[in-house]
Amino acid sequence: MSWLDPDDDLDDDFEDFDESSIRVRPNPKGNRPRTKRRPAHEDAQIGRVLGVDRGRYSVMLDEGGANERTITTTRARELRKTPIVTGDQARVVGDTSGTEGTLGRIVGIVERSSLLRRSADDTDQVERVIVANADQMLIVVAAADPEPRARLVDRYLVAALDAGIRPLLVVTKTDLADPTDFLSYFDGLDLRVFTSARGQMPTDEIGEALIGHSTVFVGHSGVGKSTLVNALVPTAKRATGHVNQVTGRGRHTSSSTVSLRYESTEGSGWVIDTPGVRSFGLGHVNPAGILASFTELAAIAENCPRGCTHLVDAPDCALIEAAQEGELSDTELARLDSLQRLLQTFADKAEASPGTSSAR
Ligand code: GDP
Ligand code: ZN
Repeated sequence: MSWLDPDDDLDDDFEDFDESSIRVRPNPKGNRPRTKRRPAHEDAQIGRVLGVDRGRYSVMLDEGGANERTITTTRARELRKTPIVTGDQARVVGDTSGTEGTLGRIVGIVERSSLLRRSADDTDQVERVIVANADQMLIVVAAADPEPRARLVDRYLVAALDAGIRPLLVVTKTDLADPTDFLSYFDGLDLRVFTSARGQMPTDEIGEALIGHSTVFVGHSGVGKSTLVNALVPTAKRATGHVNQVTGRGRHTSSSTVSLRYESTEGSGWVIDTPGVRSFGLGHVNPAGILASFTELAAIAENCPRGCTHLVDAPDCALIEAAQEGELSDTELARLDSLQRLLQTFADKAEASPGTSSAR
Protein backbone atom coordinates (compact mmCIF):
# COMPACT_ATOMS: atom_id res chain seq x y z
CA MET A 1 0.00 0.00 0.00
CA SER A 2 1.46 3.29 -1.04
CA TRP A 3 1.32 6.17 1.32
CA LEU A 4 -0.07 8.35 -1.41
CA ASP A 5 -2.42 5.80 -2.85
CA PRO A 6 -5.90 7.24 -2.48
CA ASP A 7 -7.31 3.76 -2.86
CA ASP A 8 -5.68 2.44 0.22
CA ASP A 9 -8.01 1.02 2.77
CA LEU A 10 -8.31 4.05 4.98
CA ASP A 11 -11.97 4.31 4.33
CA ASP A 12 -12.53 0.75 5.34
CA ASP A 13 -10.81 1.51 8.57
CA PHE A 14 -13.50 3.96 9.29
CA GLU A 15 -16.41 1.71 8.65
CA ASP A 16 -16.93 0.85 12.27
CA PHE A 17 -16.64 4.42 13.35
CA ASP A 18 -19.78 6.29 13.98
CA GLU A 19 -18.07 9.33 12.55
CA SER A 20 -17.87 7.64 9.18
CA SER A 21 -21.45 8.40 8.45
CA ILE A 22 -20.94 12.04 9.16
CA ARG A 23 -19.76 14.26 6.39
CA VAL A 24 -19.51 17.94 6.75
CA ARG A 25 -18.75 20.60 4.19
CA PRO A 26 -15.37 22.17 4.60
CA ASN A 27 -15.41 25.47 6.36
CA PRO A 28 -14.14 27.99 3.81
CA LYS A 29 -13.09 30.38 6.55
CA GLY A 30 -10.50 28.00 7.92
CA ASN A 31 -9.83 25.88 10.88
CA ARG A 32 -12.38 26.70 13.42
CA PRO A 33 -15.80 25.49 12.52
CA ARG A 34 -18.27 27.07 14.82
CA THR A 35 -21.40 25.60 16.17
CA LYS A 36 -24.27 27.97 15.60
CA ARG A 37 -26.60 26.09 17.86
CA ARG A 38 -27.34 27.93 21.04
CA PRO A 39 -27.50 25.97 24.24
CA ALA A 40 -31.14 25.00 24.39
CA HIS A 41 -30.91 23.47 27.83
CA GLU A 42 -29.70 25.80 30.53
CA ASP A 43 -29.44 22.95 32.99
CA ALA A 44 -27.19 20.82 30.81
CA GLN A 45 -23.95 19.50 32.25
CA ILE A 46 -20.82 19.63 30.16
CA GLY A 47 -18.62 16.59 29.80
CA ARG A 48 -15.85 15.15 27.65
CA VAL A 49 -16.77 12.74 24.90
CA LEU A 50 -14.40 9.83 25.43
CA GLY A 51 -15.50 7.61 22.61
CA VAL A 52 -18.23 6.67 20.22
CA ASP A 53 -19.59 3.21 19.70
CA ARG A 54 -22.59 2.38 17.51
CA GLY A 55 -24.41 5.62 18.12
CA ARG A 56 -23.67 5.68 21.84
CA TYR A 57 -21.31 8.28 23.20
CA SER A 58 -19.47 7.79 26.45
CA VAL A 59 -19.14 11.09 28.25
CA MET A 60 -17.10 11.86 31.34
CA LEU A 61 -18.75 14.23 33.79
CA ASP A 62 -17.16 16.08 36.70
CA GLU A 63 -13.73 15.30 35.28
CA GLY A 64 -11.17 15.28 38.05
CA GLY A 65 -13.86 15.98 40.63
CA ALA A 66 -15.22 13.95 43.52
CA ASN A 67 -18.16 12.77 41.48
CA GLU A 68 -16.29 11.92 38.31
CA ARG A 69 -18.22 9.40 36.27
CA THR A 70 -18.57 8.17 32.74
CA ILE A 71 -22.08 7.96 31.41
CA THR A 72 -23.58 6.56 28.24
CA THR A 73 -25.52 8.95 26.05
CA THR A 74 -27.35 9.22 22.79
CA ARG A 75 -27.51 12.30 20.66
CA ALA A 76 -30.63 14.41 20.52
CA ARG A 77 -32.56 14.20 17.30
CA GLU A 78 -31.79 17.79 16.38
CA LEU A 79 -28.07 16.98 16.43
CA ARG A 80 -28.46 14.26 13.83
CA LYS A 81 -26.28 16.12 11.37
CA THR A 82 -23.76 17.43 13.86
CA PRO A 83 -20.61 15.35 14.06
CA ILE A 84 -19.82 14.48 17.66
CA VAL A 85 -16.36 13.05 18.13
CA THR A 86 -13.84 12.03 20.71
CA GLY A 87 -12.65 15.09 22.58
CA ASP A 88 -15.82 17.08 22.13
CA GLN A 89 -17.26 18.90 25.11
CA ALA A 90 -20.87 17.82 25.09
CA ARG A 91 -23.88 19.34 26.81
CA VAL A 92 -25.75 16.52 28.42
CA VAL A 93 -29.24 16.32 29.90
CA GLY A 94 -31.50 13.54 31.11
CA ASP A 95 -30.25 10.82 33.41
CA THR A 96 -26.65 11.78 34.07
CA SER A 97 -26.24 9.55 37.11
CA GLY A 98 -24.16 7.02 35.24
CA THR A 99 -26.09 4.22 36.90
CA GLU A 100 -26.01 1.03 34.87
CA GLY A 101 -28.70 0.99 32.20
CA THR A 102 -29.33 4.72 32.22
CA LEU A 103 -28.93 6.91 29.19
CA GLY A 104 -28.19 10.61 29.01
CA ARG A 105 -28.79 12.78 25.98
CA ILE A 106 -26.37 15.10 24.22
CA VAL A 107 -28.14 18.32 23.30
CA GLY A 108 -25.21 20.41 22.14
CA ILE A 109 -21.49 20.69 21.57
CA VAL A 110 -19.32 23.43 23.00
CA GLU A 111 -17.38 25.41 20.41
CA ARG A 112 -14.20 23.53 19.58
CA SER A 113 -10.71 24.88 20.04
CA SER A 114 -9.39 22.61 17.30
CA LEU A 115 -10.65 20.02 14.92
CA LEU A 116 -8.55 17.35 13.32
CA ARG A 117 -10.06 16.38 10.04
CA ARG A 118 -9.26 14.19 7.16
CA SER A 119 -10.52 13.94 3.64
CA ALA A 120 -11.00 10.53 2.14
CA ASP A 121 -8.19 11.43 -0.24
CA ASP A 122 -6.29 14.47 -1.45
CA THR A 123 -8.88 15.54 -3.97
CA ASP A 124 -11.84 15.00 -1.73
CA GLN A 125 -13.34 18.21 -0.46
CA VAL A 126 -15.69 16.30 1.75
CA GLU A 127 -14.05 15.81 5.06
CA ARG A 128 -14.47 13.75 8.14
CA VAL A 129 -14.00 14.90 11.63
CA ILE A 130 -11.73 12.73 13.72
CA VAL A 131 -10.84 14.39 17.00
CA ALA A 132 -11.99 17.62 18.62
CA ASN A 133 -10.10 19.90 20.99
CA ALA A 134 -6.73 18.17 20.72
CA ASP A 135 -3.85 20.59 21.19
CA GLN A 136 -0.99 18.20 20.41
CA MET A 137 -0.32 15.49 17.87
CA LEU A 138 2.23 12.84 18.70
CA ILE A 139 3.50 11.40 15.44
CA VAL A 140 4.97 7.94 15.85
CA VAL A 141 7.41 6.59 13.27
CA ALA A 142 9.85 3.69 13.49
CA ALA A 143 13.57 4.03 12.76
CA ALA A 144 13.17 0.75 10.85
CA ASP A 145 10.58 -1.99 10.31
CA PRO A 146 8.67 -0.24 8.83
CA GLU A 147 11.18 2.11 7.21
CA PRO A 148 10.51 5.75 8.12
CA ARG A 149 9.38 8.05 5.35
CA ALA A 150 9.78 11.77 5.70
CA ARG A 151 6.94 12.44 3.30
CA LEU A 152 4.62 10.56 5.57
CA VAL A 153 5.65 12.66 8.53
CA ASP A 154 5.29 15.80 6.40
CA ARG A 155 1.69 14.94 5.77
CA TYR A 156 0.96 14.48 9.43
CA LEU A 157 2.70 17.80 10.07
CA VAL A 158 0.58 19.57 7.51
CA ALA A 159 -2.60 18.15 9.02
CA ALA A 160 -1.50 19.21 12.51
CA LEU A 161 -0.35 22.70 11.58
CA ASP A 162 -3.47 23.26 9.53
CA ALA A 163 -5.58 22.40 12.55
CA GLY A 164 -3.50 24.59 14.87
CA ILE A 165 -2.23 21.55 16.75
CA ARG A 166 1.33 21.32 18.04
CA PRO A 167 3.21 18.37 16.57
CA LEU A 168 5.60 16.11 18.52
CA LEU A 169 7.59 13.27 17.01
CA VAL A 170 8.58 9.92 18.48
CA VAL A 171 11.00 7.68 16.62
CA THR A 172 10.64 4.14 17.91
CA LYS A 173 12.85 1.08 17.35
CA THR A 174 16.08 3.03 17.52
CA ASP A 175 17.58 -0.29 18.68
CA LEU A 176 17.16 -1.40 15.07
CA ALA A 177 18.54 1.64 13.24
CA ASP A 178 20.13 5.02 13.83
CA PRO A 179 17.53 7.71 13.10
CA THR A 180 20.03 10.60 12.80
CA ASP A 181 19.85 10.95 9.02
CA PHE A 182 16.10 10.69 9.01
CA LEU A 183 15.78 13.28 11.75
CA SER A 184 18.06 15.79 10.03
CA TYR A 185 15.22 16.23 7.62
CA PHE A 186 13.20 18.03 10.29
CA ASP A 187 15.92 20.36 11.54
CA GLY A 188 14.08 23.47 10.48
CA LEU A 189 10.91 22.74 12.41
CA ASP A 190 9.78 23.52 15.92
CA LEU A 191 9.40 19.87 16.54
CA ARG A 192 10.16 18.18 19.81
CA VAL A 193 11.63 14.77 19.07
CA PHE A 194 11.77 11.71 21.33
CA THR A 195 13.58 8.50 20.52
CA SER A 196 12.54 5.15 21.86
CA ALA A 197 14.15 1.72 21.84
CA ARG A 198 13.04 -1.69 23.02
CA GLY A 199 13.38 -1.70 26.80
CA GLN A 200 14.21 2.00 26.78
CA MET A 201 11.02 3.85 26.20
CA PRO A 202 11.16 7.50 27.28
CA THR A 203 7.83 7.25 29.03
CA ASP A 204 8.67 9.86 31.67
CA GLU A 205 9.75 12.46 29.12
CA ILE A 206 6.83 11.82 26.81
CA GLY A 207 4.47 11.65 29.77
CA GLU A 208 5.64 15.02 30.99
CA ALA A 209 4.81 16.48 27.59
CA LEU A 210 1.30 15.03 27.87
CA ILE A 211 0.40 16.66 31.17
CA GLY A 212 -2.28 19.28 30.82
CA HIS A 213 -2.78 18.50 27.14
CA SER A 214 -4.99 16.50 24.90
CA THR A 215 -2.67 14.63 22.56
CA VAL A 216 -3.75 12.64 19.57
CA PHE A 217 -1.41 9.75 18.71
CA VAL A 218 -0.99 8.95 15.03
CA GLY A 219 1.21 6.51 13.18
CA HIS A 220 1.27 3.86 10.57
CA SER A 221 0.57 0.29 11.57
CA GLY A 222 3.52 -1.55 13.07
CA VAL A 223 5.52 1.45 14.26
CA GLY A 224 5.00 0.58 17.93
CA LYS A 225 2.29 3.07 18.77
CA SER A 226 0.23 0.60 20.79
CA THR A 227 3.32 -0.53 22.66
CA LEU A 228 3.98 3.09 23.54
CA VAL A 229 0.38 3.80 24.56
CA ASN A 230 0.41 0.75 26.84
CA ALA A 231 3.64 1.89 28.45
CA LEU A 232 2.20 5.34 29.11
CA VAL A 233 -1.24 4.16 30.18
CA PRO A 234 -0.87 0.70 31.72
CA THR A 235 -4.62 0.21 31.89
CA ALA A 236 -4.99 0.85 28.16
CA LYS A 237 -4.31 -2.72 27.03
CA ARG A 238 -4.13 -1.77 23.37
CA ALA A 239 -3.61 -4.79 21.15
CA THR A 240 -0.02 -4.92 19.90
CA GLY A 241 1.91 -6.72 17.23
CA HIS A 242 -0.92 -7.22 14.83
CA VAL A 243 0.16 -8.38 11.43
CA ASN A 244 -0.45 -6.33 8.31
CA GLN A 245 -2.05 -9.25 6.54
CA VAL A 246 -4.87 -9.44 9.01
CA THR A 247 -8.06 -9.26 7.04
CA GLY A 248 -9.85 -5.94 7.14
CA ARG A 249 -12.75 -7.32 9.13
CA GLY A 250 -10.62 -8.81 11.82
CA ARG A 251 -8.76 -5.61 12.30
CA HIS A 252 -11.83 -3.43 12.40
CA THR A 253 -13.29 -5.08 15.41
CA SER A 254 -10.37 -3.95 17.52
CA SER A 255 -10.02 -0.45 16.14
CA SER A 256 -11.79 2.49 17.60
CA THR A 257 -10.67 5.90 18.68
CA VAL A 258 -10.30 6.04 22.43
CA SER A 259 -9.45 8.62 25.04
CA LEU A 260 -7.09 7.37 27.71
CA ARG A 261 -5.94 9.25 30.74
CA TYR A 262 -2.23 9.56 31.31
CA GLU A 263 -1.54 9.91 35.00
CA SER A 264 1.62 10.50 36.93
CA THR A 265 2.56 12.10 40.21
CA GLU A 266 3.19 15.28 38.21
CA GLY A 267 -0.28 15.52 36.71
CA SER A 268 -2.50 14.10 34.04
CA GLY A 269 -3.36 14.50 30.39
CA TRP A 270 -5.38 12.86 27.67
CA VAL A 271 -4.06 10.43 25.11
CA ILE A 272 -6.31 9.99 22.11
CA ASP A 273 -5.40 6.89 20.20
CA THR A 274 -6.62 6.67 16.62
CA PRO A 275 -5.98 3.18 15.32
CA GLY A 276 -8.14 3.64 12.26
CA VAL A 277 -6.38 6.71 11.01
CA ARG A 278 -3.16 6.00 9.23
CA SER A 279 -3.03 9.05 7.08
CA PHE A 280 -4.80 12.22 6.32
CA GLY A 281 -5.96 13.20 2.89
CA LEU A 282 -5.18 16.86 2.58
CA GLY A 283 -8.17 17.84 0.49
CA HIS A 284 -9.40 20.39 2.96
CA VAL A 285 -6.07 21.90 3.99
CA ASN A 286 -5.57 25.61 3.67
CA PRO A 287 -1.93 26.53 2.86
CA ALA A 288 -2.28 29.78 4.80
CA GLY A 289 -2.56 27.69 7.95
CA ILE A 290 0.79 26.07 7.21
CA LEU A 291 2.50 29.42 6.70
CA ALA A 292 0.89 30.88 9.82
CA SER A 293 2.65 28.32 11.98
CA PHE A 294 6.03 29.69 10.84
CA THR A 295 5.48 32.99 12.61
CA GLU A 296 8.65 34.85 11.65
CA LEU A 297 8.43 33.71 8.03
CA ALA A 298 4.75 34.63 7.85
CA ALA A 299 5.70 38.18 8.84
CA ILE A 300 8.16 38.40 5.92
CA ALA A 301 5.65 36.82 3.56
CA GLU A 302 3.31 39.73 4.12
CA ASN A 303 5.38 41.48 1.46
CA CYS A 304 4.77 38.71 -1.06
CA PRO A 305 2.65 39.32 -4.14
CA ARG A 306 -0.98 38.37 -3.77
CA GLY A 307 -1.52 34.65 -4.15
CA CYS A 308 2.20 33.89 -3.79
CA THR A 309 2.81 30.15 -3.42
CA HIS A 310 6.20 30.73 -1.68
CA LEU A 311 7.45 27.66 -3.56
CA VAL A 312 11.03 27.61 -4.88
CA ASP A 313 10.02 29.00 -8.26
CA ALA A 314 7.54 31.61 -7.00
CA PRO A 315 8.16 34.97 -8.74
CA ASP A 316 8.93 37.96 -6.48
CA CYS A 317 8.41 35.89 -3.34
CA ALA A 318 9.58 38.01 -0.40
CA LEU A 319 10.82 34.93 1.41
CA ILE A 320 12.98 33.80 -1.48
CA GLU A 321 14.29 37.34 -1.97
CA ALA A 322 15.15 37.62 1.72
CA ALA A 323 17.01 34.31 1.48
CA GLN A 324 18.91 35.40 -1.65
CA GLU A 325 19.87 38.70 -0.10
CA GLY A 326 21.30 36.97 2.95
CA GLU A 327 18.73 38.39 5.31
CA LEU A 328 17.77 35.07 6.83
CA SER A 329 19.69 33.30 9.59
CA ASP A 330 20.73 29.68 9.15
CA THR A 331 17.81 28.63 11.30
CA GLU A 332 15.41 30.68 9.24
CA LEU A 333 16.85 29.22 6.04
CA ALA A 334 16.30 25.71 7.35
CA ARG A 335 12.80 26.65 8.36
CA LEU A 336 12.13 28.11 4.93
CA ASP A 337 13.22 24.77 3.44
CA SER A 338 10.77 22.96 5.69
CA LEU A 339 8.00 25.41 4.94
CA GLN A 340 8.54 25.02 1.21
CA ARG A 341 8.55 21.25 1.54
CA LEU A 342 5.25 21.28 3.42
CA LEU A 343 3.73 23.73 0.94
CA GLN A 344 4.99 21.49 -1.85
CA THR A 345 3.27 18.57 -0.15
CA PHE A 346 0.13 20.58 -0.40
CA ALA A 347 0.78 21.74 -4.00
CA ASP A 348 1.53 18.19 -5.18
CA LYS A 349 -1.79 16.99 -4.02
CA ALA A 350 -3.55 19.83 -5.82
CA GLU A 351 -1.73 18.95 -9.03
CA ALA A 352 -2.44 15.26 -8.71
CA SER A 353 -5.88 15.75 -10.18
CA PRO A 354 -6.48 19.34 -11.18
CA GLY A 355 -10.05 20.39 -10.89
CA THR A 356 -11.48 16.97 -10.41
CA SER A 357 -13.84 16.49 -7.61
CA SER A 358 -13.99 13.16 -5.98
CA ALA A 359 -16.70 10.80 -7.02
CA ARG A 360 -17.20 9.80 -3.46
P1 GDP B 1 1.36 -0.38 16.24
O1 GDP B 1 0.77 -1.12 15.08
O2 GDP B 1 1.97 0.90 15.83
O3 GDP B 1 0.41 -0.22 17.38
O4 GDP B 1 2.61 -1.24 16.72
P2 GDP B 1 2.75 -2.25 17.94
O5 GDP B 1 2.84 -1.51 19.22
O6 GDP B 1 1.73 -3.31 17.81
O7 GDP B 1 4.22 -2.82 17.64
C1 GDP B 1 4.54 -3.50 16.44
C2 GDP B 1 5.71 -4.42 16.71
O8 GDP B 1 6.89 -3.65 16.95
C3 GDP B 1 5.49 -5.29 17.93
O9 GDP B 1 5.99 -6.58 17.66
C4 GDP B 1 6.35 -4.61 19.00
O10 GDP B 1 6.81 -5.51 19.98
C5 GDP B 1 7.49 -4.06 18.18
N1 GDP B 1 8.13 -2.89 18.81
C6 GDP B 1 7.52 -1.83 19.39
N2 GDP B 1 8.44 -0.95 19.86
C7 GDP B 1 9.64 -1.43 19.53
C8 GDP B 1 11.00 -0.97 19.72
O11 GDP B 1 11.29 0.11 20.27
N3 GDP B 1 12.01 -1.76 19.22
C9 GDP B 1 11.75 -2.94 18.59
N4 GDP B 1 12.79 -3.65 18.12
N5 GDP B 1 10.49 -3.41 18.38
C10 GDP B 1 9.46 -2.67 18.86
ZN1 ZN C 1 6.03 34.26 -1.12
